[in-house]
Amino acid sequence: MGKKSKDKRDIYYRKAKEQGWRARSAFKLLQIDEKFNILSGVTKAVDLCAAPGSWSQVLSRKLYLNEEIDIKEPTNLFYTEALTQVQTPATNESKKNENVKIVAVDLQPMSPLPGVIQIQGDITKYSTAQEIITHFEGEKADLVICDGAPDVTGLHCMDIYIQAQLLLGALHITCNVLREGGTFIAKIFRGKDSDLLTNQLLTLFREVHVAKPKSSRHSSIEAFVVCQGYFPPDGFDPKLMTPYLEVSNKDFSTLEGINRVIIPFIVCGDVSAYDSDTTYPLQLKGEGPYEYRAPVQPPIAPPYSFKPEPTKSDIDQFLKKIDEAAKRVGLGLGA
Ligand code: SAM
Repeated sequence: MGKKSKDKRDIYYRKAKEQGWRARSAFKLLQIDEKFNILSGVTKAVDLCAAPGSWSQVLSRKLYLNEEIDIKEPTNLFYTEALTQVQTPATNESKKNENVKIVAVDLQPMSPLPGVIQIQGDITKYSTAQEIITHFEGEKADLVICDGAPDVTGLHCMDIYIQAQLLLGALHITCNVLREGGTFIAKIFRGKDSDLLTNQLLTLFREVHVAKPKSSRHSSIEAFVVCQGYFPPDGFDPKLMTPYLEVSNKDFSTLEGINRVIIPFIVCGDVSAYDSDTTYPLQLKGEGPYEYRAPVQPPIAPPYSFKPEPTKSDIDQFLKKIDEAAKRVGLGLGA
C-alpha cells in the first residue's frame, strides 16, 4: 500500500497529521464538544485510557493553554512546536491556565503533554481512582472522559462484553472522582443492551445522550455516551461497587438502603426480571415442580394446521373425475 493511500481514504487521519494531533480520535472529542459544550468552565479533568494522547491534547490545548481550536483549520504550528519542546514557548506563558489540572491514565506509557499529569495504571482498579484523587488534593473533577477500548477480537458479543467491563471500571472511577453536576463521556460499543446502559446511567446523571460524531466511522459499532449533570442518589456509596467489580461471586445481600438497589442494577443490569436470552431449568428456584400446561388459547385457524385424511368417498370421487376427464379426451382408463 502506498504511503498516501490512507491519507486519501481517511480525511480525519490526514487532518490529524496536518493539525498535529496524535490520533484521529481528537476530532471525536472536538465534535462532541462542539455539540454538547462539555469543556466550558472545566478546570479539573480526567482522561481515562488516554494513550497515545489525542484526547489529552485536546484538554491540554483548550483548557491549559487556553487555545481556540478551529477544527477546520489546516495547521497549528504553535502547538506542534509546544509538543516538540514539551515546554510551552515563553510568548504564550501568559495564556497558560495554572488552575487547570488534567490527569491522564492508561496501561501504556505516553509522551508528555503540557499541563497533563500521567498515571500508568489500570482503570478497573480502585487504587487508580485513589491515585487520581490524590492529584486533585481533595477536590473533585468537573469532567471524566474515557475512550477505552480492549483489543477487539472480531466476536461482537465478546467485544461488547469486554468493552462494557471497561466502561464499568470507568464509571466506578467517575463516581469516586466526579463532582455533583459534572460530566462523563465514554466510548461504548452499541449492542442489544444499549437501552439498559442508558437507563443505568440515568440513575446517576440528569441527562444521557448517545452520540456518534461524524469522525467515528459508520462501519464501527462505536458510539459515545454523553452523561451530564452527575447527581447520585442520597446515600449512594460508589466505594461499595468495588468488591462486586473485582470478584465473580457477587452476593448483594449484604448491601443496605439505596445501595442494595442501585449497585446490583449498575454492576449487572436489572436483577428483577428473567433474561429473555437465558435458558432456565424447568424447575425454577423457589417454585414447585414443573408441570406441562397446554397453551391458554391456541390459535383458531393457524396457517400450519393440516386437513384431515381423505375418506374412501373423497378418493372415489377424485377417481371418477379423472375418468370423466380422460373419456372427454378419448383416453378412458380401461378398467
Ligand atoms: N483516547 C486516546 C487518544 O485519543 O489518543 C485513544 C485511546 S485507545 C482507542 C484505547 C486505550 O485504552 C489504549 O491506549 C489502551 O491501552 C487503553 N486501555 C485498555 N484497557 C485499559 C485499562 N484496563 N486501563 C487503562 N487503559 C486501558
